[in-house]
Amino acid sequence: MTVPFSFEVYPPRKPELQAALHATIQALAASGPEFITVTYGANGSSRDASLDCVRYIRENTNVEPLAHLTCVGSTRIEITEVVDSFIDAGIRMFLALRGDPPEGTDASSDYLGELSSASELVELIAERGGDRVIVSVAAFPNGHPQSSTPQQDIEVLLAKQQAGAEFAITQLVFDASDYLSFAAAATATGVTIPILPGIMPVTSLARLRRIVEITGERMPTALEEALEAASSPAEARALGVAHAVDLCRTLVAGGAPGLHLYAFNEHETVLDVLAQVNQPA
Ligand code: FAD
Repeated sequence: MTVPFSFEVYPPRKPELQAALHATIQALAASGPEFITVTYGANGSSRDASLDCVRYIRENTNVEPLAHLTCVGSTRIEITEVVDSFIDAGIRMFLALRGDPPEGTDASSDYLGELSSASELVELIAERGGDRVIVSVAAFPNGHPQSSTPQQDIEVLLAKQQAGAEFAITQLVFDASDYLSFAAAATATGVTIPILPGIMPVTSLARLRRIVEITGERMPTALEEALEAASSPAEARALGVAHAVDLCRTLVAGGAPGLHLYAFNEHETVLDVLAQVNQPA
């Protein structure tokens, strides 16, 4: 089974981690992904580091970089300057996100800024880049924490498509049926753009708990229990990889058009997962 795949990395949190990230990017790029995405720190906190990272990918690999950008809390002029700086650096692929307001801020308050949803950022990037850019967006198979109904998440995805998004990447999925039922409902509502499932191989209990806390996703209890019972870090890692391999196979068999793997700035685990996914079952 060979399916298109892509990876996500985040900019280094300290300058001394940059060399290791570059080595990881080279290893990921050598495996032939469609693109490598680079996250954008909340409220633009990693703007320069994110730009350096996508520029590194563009100039030092054969893989297309895809820059995440957020608009929350920014004026239209500020976000336009950011978008232009990425386009001027030769970046052609974007993930347009609203982003999260700082903790303690009411998400419905004026803090949201002049662009209050990802759809408006899709339009702005398309306006600045024209035919040169491809804009993608986020999708939430288990619901965005601020959405009131599952249908709202689908309507919002449809609005992003109408604004010009060409594909979507989902929040982490741990259970293939969550993705597959969301994709079916989205198609039934008129969503035609590809929806790539986001998969993070989780190799330790501490990491699983942290990820669930950050994303607000439902805890995958079977995986949690298996990791809890693991007798060593090596056993926990093998369990996490096996879970991700099984998930990827079920997603592809169910019609997922590709796999987007959250690499956590380490290449070994995601490359192990892909190697096993591509082996005959
Ligand atoms: P939106 O699509 O604008 O949705 C936000 C909320 O508003 C949803 O509840 C939605 O239902 C609602 N909504 C939107 N439009 C309307 C409307 N017209 N009417 C009514 N309700 C509406 N965050 C970062 O800071 N940096 C990153 O790099 C980053 N990368 C991410 C990558 C992926 C694949 C995903 C899934 C998330 C990522 N995030 C990132 C997190 C993201 O910024 C948050 O989840 C944020 O709260 C929502 O962003 P959004 O683009 O989905 O917003």
